[in-house]
Amino acid sequence: MVDHLPLTRPTIDEETIAEVAKVLRSGWITSGPKVKEFEARLSDYFGGRPVRVFNSGTASLEIALRLAGVGPGDEVITTPLTWVATSNVILAVGAKPVFVDIDPVTRNIDLDAISPAITPSTKAIMPVDLAGLPVNRDRLYELAVSHNLRVIEDAAQSLGSVWNGSRIGSIGDLVSFSFHPNKNATSIEGGCLVMNDETEAKLAEQYRLQGVLRSGVDEMDVKVPGGKFNLTDVAAAVGINQLARIDEFNMRRRELVREYFRQLDRQEIPDFKIALPVMDFERSNWHMFQVILSGDPDAAGRGDVMKRMAETGISTGVHYPAIHLFSLYRRAGWREGDFPHAEHAGRNILTLPLFPSMTTSDVKRVVDSLINALKP
Ligand SMILES: *Cc1c(COP(=O)(O)O)cnc(C)c1O
Repeated sequence: MVDHLPLTRPTIDEETIAEVAKVLRSGWITSGPKVKEFEARLSDYFGGRPVRVFNSGTASLEIALRLAGVGPGDEVITTPLTWVATSNVILAVGAKPVFVDIDPVTRNIDLDAISPAITPSTKAIMPVDLAGLPVNRDRLYELAVSHNLRVIEDAAQSLGSVWNGSRIGSIGDLVSFSFHPNKNATSIEGGCLVMNDETEAKLAEQYRLQGVLRSGVDEMDVKVPGGKFNLTDVAAAVGINQLARIDEFNMRRRELVREYFRQLDRQEIPDFKIALPVMDFERSNWHMFQVILSGDPDAAGRGDVMKRMAETGISTGVHYPAIHLFSLYRRAGWREGDFPHAEHAGRNILTLPLFPSMTTSDVKRVVDSLINALKP
């Protein structure tokens, strides 16, 4: 039997487990004091900006779109190489996603492709920091300001990433994060939105819980059709402890990625032709370590590589197939050939295991397994 190495695994310490037990015994387990505390800690982390938490990163994105006034008839420019939540929420508010291709080096939205995609209906840009590598914020906001567009940053993957010395979230317009267990910090499920002012934060609270506005001792009004997106205190307790360790987690991820580059450097990679991620140790939180296989017909295909690696006990993942080729999106008119770089990545990108409790010898094992799996 081979030792199984998962793709990812959250680091949950005993202190967190004890804290969860305390909340469970407290008599108040849904949204309450722990949610308030989590929001306050997040606000500190993001330089004092207003923050509200939700029961998922998807909810956070959808509420961000509503805060920006995006609705039927509006267009939102985004990337086709992301988790499908990014564009699903645009559909959910009745707007139209407008995809543009990716930059094949960063694998993020191609900023040069944005201007030509802007129409009188464009309301916002929704960039994604894939794998934690930040989209160029200087160029992004130059574009947004000059075309009078809102920016909803899908920073689901980039908690702790940095742009020009500033944490992602401490700068920018609306910035959304996810605390899914696969992300760099988790609240089991959950997400948060960093906003510009208290007016936005108050509106976000209404969208989060049935539109309810309380006043006085016993009065209530409803002005907007809110949903049910609140986070529990149990989840918030997990999130608080995870946030306290995020710098440590991200530092460990960086160390492991250095080892990935070292191990891959030892190998005769040109024979197999795989594209490595941008070697960045300043900006990225290294949410994922992803290689892109060549896609050559005479080389091992991604499915074969994944199967062979699984036989050695190593889990790998696909993040992500290009969204515009899903049936739902094809029905709206997109087709093969629309975004060649995103399609190549979507068919050939492979996520390797990366999580703080991995060891450097795990990394060597993954690389050896990958190189073997790539052999014809
Ligand atoms: C994880 C993720 C989301 C959604 O977050 P959930 O918490 O799973 O709802 C959205 N966009 C991107 C890019 C993600 O990675």
